[in-house]
Amino acid sequence: MKNKVYIIDVTNRDGVQTSRILLPKLAKTMLNLYLDEMGVYQSEVGFPTLKHEMHYINANLDLAKAGGIRRLHLQGWCRALPEDVDLSFKNCPSLRHLNISVSTSDIMIQGKFQGRKSWKDVVESMYKSAKLAKHLGAVTIGLNAEDASRTNLDKLIEFALAGKEAGADRLRYCDTLGVDDPITIYERIKTLALATQFPIEMHCHNDLGMAEAVSLAGAQGAIESNVTSFINTTINGYGERAGNCDLVSTILALKFSNALQGKLPLDEHINLKTAWKIAKYASYAFNIPIPMNQPGVGANAFAHESGIHADGALKDRRSYELYDPEDVGRGEPELFETGRIITTGEYGGIKGFRHVYDKLGISFPSDNEARKILELVQYANLHTQKPLTDDELRFIANYPEIVQKILVVQP
Ligand SMILES: [Zn+2]
Repeated sequence: MKNKVYIIDVTNRDGVQTSRILLPKLAKTMLNLYLDEMGVYQSEVGFPTLKHEMHYINANLDLAKAGGIRRLHLQGWCRALPEDVDLSFKNCPSLRHLNISVSTSDIMIQGKFQGRKSWKDVVESMYKSAKLAKHLGAVTIGLNAEDASRTNLDKLIEFALAGKEAGADRLRYCDTLGVDDPITIYERIKTLALATQFPIEMHCHNDLGMAEAVSLAGAQGAIESNVTSFINTTINGYGERAGNCDLVSTILALKFSNALQGKLPLDEHINLKTAWKIAKYASYAFNIPIPMNQPGVGANAFAHESGIHADGALKDRRSYELYDPEDVGRGEPELFETGRIITTGEYGGIKGFRHVYDKLGISFPSDNEARKILELVQYANLHTQKPLTDDELRFIANYPEIVQKILVVQP
């Protein structure tokens, strides 16, 4: 596992917790399916301590057991408090991967805890929580040092070593405010990795527009210190305030940046060709357009008009393009019905339902079976409140019991 960069996508936790951003549980599940298809190592699925997340998380763990999710590690997030860890495993008993989070900087410890917690209490709470998580069945534990970039390095080393002793598996270095720059983070991560020999996750925010740059520089510091590195991303960079490190841009940088290609080997399971699909779905599900100039997946990512550029690109595309549209899964014509169309959803009936599924190549053995799936489609649409996509309809037909569980939300 050493000396490679692994992607941990946090859209379903950091992305969805963002102000004015919403995602139905069915859409969170679709993101997990697409991330798995993309070959991403891990998805931070959400909050196992939250009652309304419980059924969705358990259903996704069932989906992994049933083979619907193949490699993607499904990981929960909670505060580094023993009571949170305990509740996480009570709510989601088959959870095997957990990240526990606590603020480590003086400014946050003083500002948040107002003297109720000292540095010693923070380390102790993390230590106890990690031990408890191991005891309750966690296979991997990540220790999130919130505001790590504004935390004294000696303290971070102490934090990581204490967690290592408690049985944790890696440290998440959170540049929570996006305050680090590439050179600083590279040096800090190098010192941290050399002192602890503990795998490191980079978790960087984009407040200064450097989220991808600092994540990659940090990962380089880890790899050069012979420590496995992970980069936290979100799809289309959706996340708190100015967002997080963008998934597709990060993969593009690892694959096509001149100097990074040799230095930072990317997890070989990653299939960039699914980028277009996942970016478009996330945009649809979140109801947030993809900026025109977004790397790889923006409308203008492969567009040329000005005289010199168009002439150059026509003669040799490599004059103005680092990679091809096909590399990110673009270029296929997308067909939309422009005439009569039959859809199925919240108020649909059996005839229309059968017509839609026939077109998807899915038939049902009995009328009873078809009506059961139709009812699920109605509820799924009630839940998402926007037209169901073909992949969502396929998923509902393939895993009806799991979908039924996802749709259960009881206050
Ligand atoms: Zn974050």
